[in-house]
Amino acid sequence: MTNGAAKLNAFPVFVRVEGEAVIIVGGGDEALAKARLLGQTSARLTIVADHAEPALAAWIAANGATHVNAPYEPALLEGAVLVFAASGDEALDRQVSDDARRLGIAVNAVDRPELCDFFTPALVNRAPLAVAVGTEGAGPVLAQMVRAKIDRMLPPSLGPLAALGNSLREAADKVLPKGSRRRRFWNDFFTGAPARAMEIGHASEARAAAAELLARNAPASGHVALVGAGPGAEDLLTLRAQRHLMEADVIMYDALVPEAVVAMGRRDAERLPVGKRKGCHSKSQEEINALLVRLGREGKRVVRLKSGDPLVFGRAGEEMQALRDAGISYEVVPGVTAAFAAAADCELPLTLRGVTSSMVFTTGHDLKGGTLPDWAKLAISGATVAVYMGRSVAADVAARLIEAGLSPDTAVAVVENASLAERRLFHGTIADLPALQDRDELTGPVMTLIGDAVAGANFARSTPLADQNRVAAKENLGADA
Ligand code: SAH
Repeated sequence: MTNGAAKLNAFPVFVRVEGEAVIIVGGGDEALAKARLLGQTSARLTIVADHAEPALAAWIAANGATHVNAPYEPALLEGAVLVFAASGDEALDRQVSDDARRLGIAVNAVDRPELCDFFTPALVNRAPLAVAVGTEGAGPVLAQMVRAKIDRMLPPSLGPLAALGNSLREAADKVLPKGSRRRRFWNDFFTGAPARAMEIGHASEARAAAAELLARNAPASGHVALVGAGPGAEDLLTLRAQRHLMEADVIMYDALVPEAVVAMGRRDAERLPVGKRKGCHSKSQEEINALLVRLGREGKRVVRLKSGDPLVFGRAGEEMQALRDAGISYEVVPGVTAAFAAAADCELPLTLRGVTSSMVFTTGHDLKGGTLPDWAKLAISGATVAVYMGRSVAADVAARLIEAGLSPDTAVAVVENASLAERRLFHGTIADLPALQDRDELTGPVMTLIGDAVAGANFARSTPLADQNRVAAKENLGADA
């Protein structure tokens, strides 16, 4: 790997600065940027500036740095471990660099690589953990880009978790023999129960879980995360969902979860499609429950990936019950449910001041019997109704709602493949809704939204639901793609 790879001209190290003098020379933006960076450390910071700009002066006052309000002179550098020439003035920066080098102090000069003994990184700070990104001064924008990416990957709780780890190191060294046992403990510590407790801000619970892990000194127990994959677009996945995917041993997913989301999982994670799409052969719910329990017992980190939000028409209730009964730890990671994605596509307010203040999530499959379910009454009283899995029962839903007293003029929006590039939008009234059942061209998942608030949507890019001219629907697809 390293053979033949380009060589670094700067070697990254972490310099101990706790309680040490670090000096910044300069009074403007460059000095302020360095001050902010160094302000993340416990160094004794001195800023030499006889003309400090207001922003810098304010920063110094707020952060308790020492301000030397006098012209620069070489003696000011004595005793420092690091010097930053950040005056914005080439001659002065050069002099500072020369003086520092003469005194044997490592120096950095802003934007002047030839005057630098070291470069400053873009920094992801999860103290005591730090990730420093460097480009040898070649691409500050690139460094910031990479920094931002890494920053998103690492939960804020990693700092306190690392600190907790530090405090346990001695005990762990004493209890656990060096080698695989100790490695496994730390692996469980940073990915298992202590990490999960810290992630939701429960520091004392994290400490207790770590102590238990240490006392038990046995293989990790499994964990199942019921994760919402969102409505389809990969970038509607939450950062937490992404993190779970990257740590998973097994990813078990439904048919509606897009391949691209599954692909975001850890490279060597096992991938298990469990189907559950209408008409396709797939595992039964009981088989899925049993599989989750078995994997959990084997100590696996399982991501149970469901489309949208896992708690909305996802049969998560049964899976959680099975896991509870088996004593397997689990958690739920919410996702963007299809109704929200469809509403966003139509720019449709789900609640509307003075018009609608409640919302119903339903399937329409419960409209069969003689009595009207409660949600139908809510619809009549003005709630926004989101109908999941409603395409095949569209006519029934419309007929029953009208029969129950809902105005046939009530607005309806229908979105196929919400959030995806190939989405199709339709609009009309509840009287038009039965037409949905005849639209065989709709092969993707379909969300129907009904209610007075729906009239507030933007239908500029949608096709009338009752439009028998199917060419229009196809053009609509073209416009959206
Ligand atoms: N848990 C999921 C719902 C699963 S039920 C969620 O929270 O979204 C499956 C139904 O969800 C589909 O029949 C369809 O009505 C709806 N659905 C899921 N993804 C959709 C999408 N991208 N566009 C429109 N409807 C969708």
